[in-house]
Order: sequence, then C-alpha cells, then structure tokens
Amino acid sequence: MIVVQKYGGSSVADTERIKRVAERVTQARRAGNDVVVVVSAMGKTTDSLLARAQEISVIPPGRELDMLLTAGERISMALLAMAIHELGVTARSLTGSQAGIITDAAHGKARIIDVTPGRIHGALAEGHIVIVAGFQGVRRDSKDVTTLGRGGSDTTAVALAAALGADVCEIYTDVDGVYTADPRIVAGARRLARVSHEEMLELAACGAKVLQVRSVEYARNHHVAIAVRSSFSDSDGTLVDEGDDMEQAMISGVAHDTGEGKLVIRRVPDKPGVAARVFTALADANVNIDMIVQNVSEDGTTDISCTLPVADGPRATRLLEELSSEIGAEGIVFDTDVAKVSLIGAGMKTHPGVAAAMFAALSDAGVNIEMISTSTIRISVVIRAGDVEHAVRAVHDAFGLAEQVPA
Ligand code: ADP
Ligand code: ASP
Ligand code: MG
Repeated sequence: MIVVQKYGGSSVADTERIKRVAERVTQARRAGNDVVVVVSAMGKTTDSLLARAQEISVIPPGRELDMLLTAGERISMALLAMAIHELGVTARSLTGSQAGIITDAAHGKARIIDVTPGRIHGALAEGHIVIVAGFQGVRRDSKDVTTLGRGGSDTTAVALAAALGADVCEIYTDVDGVYTADPRIVAGARRLARVSHEEMLELAACGAKVLQVRSVEYARNHHVAIAVRSSFSDSDGTLVDEGDDMEQAMISGVAHDTGEGKLVIRRVPDKPGVAARVFTALADANVNIDMIVQNVSEDGTTDISCTLPVADGPRATRLLEELSSEIGAEGIVFDTDVAKVSLIGAGMKTHPGVAAAMFAALSDAGVNIEMISTSTIRISVVIRAGDVEHAVRAVHDAFGLAEQVPA
C-alpha cells in the first residue's frame, strides 16, 4: 500500500520532534508500505524568512521571495531524511521541483497544474522512504521555483496522494482533528469525526487554517479522502471525504480569520463602470477579493469597501491610489484591525432564521457588525479584530455546538 503523510511546522519544530516523526514514518515503512512524507518548514521558519524580506523590501519581487521561502522546507526535509537514516532505514529527500510538482506562474500563490512523480516512483522502487518539501513547486514556463500560498504543504500532500493513488492523505498536525471552532479559542469545541469536502471547504475558506483551502478543493476535485490527525497522539482524528452518505448537521462549525483587511475606496462618483474598473484592476493584479459592500449613495458619491488578504494590502492600495484620480475617488484606506467570523453548515439551506440568531448572539455579546455576507451554507460578518475571540465563543455557545447536535 502507498501511504502519504504530511507533517506541519509544529510537528517538525525542533530536532527532537523531527526524530519523533522519523519514528512514526519508519513504522509505516516497516509495516510494508511505500511511504511518501511531505514536510513543512520547522516551526515559524516561514514567518521569520518573510519578516527578513520585509526588512529589506515592502513588496519584494515574487520570484526572489519564493526562492527565499522555499529554503525553509529544504531544511526540514534533509533533517528528516537524516533522522530516518539514523534509525537504519533508507530515505531520499526531494524538493518540490524534483518531486514533479508543476505549477503556474503566480509566485506566492501558485496553483499545481500537473504532477509528474517519476523520481518519487523511482526512489520508492529502490526501497527508500521519500521525503518531499511541501509548499513548493516549479513553474512550467520558466522553471523557477514557486510557493503555493501559506499552509500550502497540505496541498502538496493531497496532490501527491492523488497522483500516487493513495487511499487517504494523512495530515499530521498539532490538534487531533477538525473541531467545531478553533480549539485554541473555544475550550469546549467538539471534534468532528467526519466532515464533507463541501463543509470543510467553507470552514477552510473562512479561516479554519487546519487545512489550506486549496488542499480541500484539490481533494474534492480528485476524490481524495483526508485524515486529519495529531502527530503527538494516536487519536482517530477527522475524516474529510465526499460525505454523500452522511446526515448533514445543521451547523458544522464557526471559523474566524484575522488575515484579511478591509479596503475602503472613499467617495467615488456613483456612476456606472466604477466598480468594474476597480475590481478589474484588482483581479488583473491577482488580488483575491472576498466580501464587497457598496454604501447607499447620498450626495452622488459612494464608498466601496471590500476585504482582501492583509499580505495583498500594500499592493492593492498602491494600485488603487494610482487609479483614484482616474475614477475620482477621494482616498484609499486599508484597515487591518478587522476580523471575519463565519458560521458554516450544510443544513442551513433549509433552516430559516440562522442569520438572525447569529446576529442576536453577537449583539448580546456587544459586538458590532461592520459587513455581512452570506451563501447557502455560510454566514460571515466582519468585526473589530479585538472582538474576535469573544465573538467566536458567543456564536459557538448560541448554537450549542459543544454538545453533539442531531442532524
Ligand atoms: P500545521 O503547521 O500542522 O500545518 P496549522 O497551524 O496550519 O498547522 O493548523 C493547525 C491549527 O489550526 C491548530 O493549531 C488550530 O489552532 C487551528 N484551527 C483553526 N480552526 C480549527 C478547527 N476548526 N479545527 C482544528 N484546528 C483549527
Ligand atoms: N511553511 C509554509 C507556511 O508556513 C507552508 C506550510 O506550513 O504548509 O505557510
Ligand atoms: Mg498548516
């Protein structure tokens, strides 16, 4: 059998932990499996590398930033291979490029467009455990290295599981599964034994960073089941799969995201074509916009607000400042002191009043709502960043998510 396991940053944070991962991995090998292991950078390495780049340049060239960041995973893959050798088992580490992770040209958030795992197959056939650097790939056109966006090692693992035909992709992290809310914020959060791709996709898109959104998208599109488990225990974890035979819970969980900022384009003329100009410019610059709100116009001008990743803030602001005289805007403000809280559940489709109950819970908790957006299985609000923990707990409590809820 082929086993694909991914270990996140905290699971390989120091050499002792790397040795522990080596033991787990060799156990799977000794049980007779072909084993492919994807690793993240050690601990907060990626954050430190990013901070160093920022000391030199606010908007560093994407190619060079990727060159820098991919160094993190190189360190952990080589150390893990050494630790496995120490246990008397043979291992080979491969960069994303060597492992055949082929991407598009979007530095910093490249998409995997093909996987050509020839060298992985070769190394497995020679009896090695294969270690692959997560979060990185190589551009098909220029052959430059790319990164897949924060948390991207999850996507590396799912893409390899799909390409190698593994039954499940095992994601080992510092929590023992997917919970009804971030267990670091809500002490009473409940572990979900099983969750559908669709619900996990919404949870991840709304900030439940236990899995990168793209990894879930990839898993859904390629019919890969994901097992989220703790690298520090033997708990069962959470199975993320198609979930066709599952009874849908009314609410699956609460997610929060502090990684987005609110961009306000102040007092633009209220006439056709302005929104199109603004959002075309942002789309052309590959900035992902989440919520959009346009205020009611009173004096012929209007404010347009939207949320976008904090990391894209400086670039988006610069771009719109250049455009602002053209579209007649009074100014651009980027506010990073906001957070998004979302309630997710497939059963919402058929239950009216969920939004009202969520807003009431926030109001009772004294939390002011600045923006709202909804889909058939999600309600999201933007609030002040300082209110986020309080708000997540209030909503989690209001829907009784700590208890086992019948469908
Ligand atoms: P890794 O380094 O292993 O990739 P991450 O930090 O990316 O780990 O993801 C794991 C973290 O995700 C947990 O420590 C937890 O705080 C957070 N998290 C947020 N929402 C959830 C959730 N609903 N269930 C479980 N963990 C969550
Ligand atoms: N090291 C990368 C990050 O911190 C990728 C990952 O951990 O999945 O975002
Ligand atoms: Mg992660």
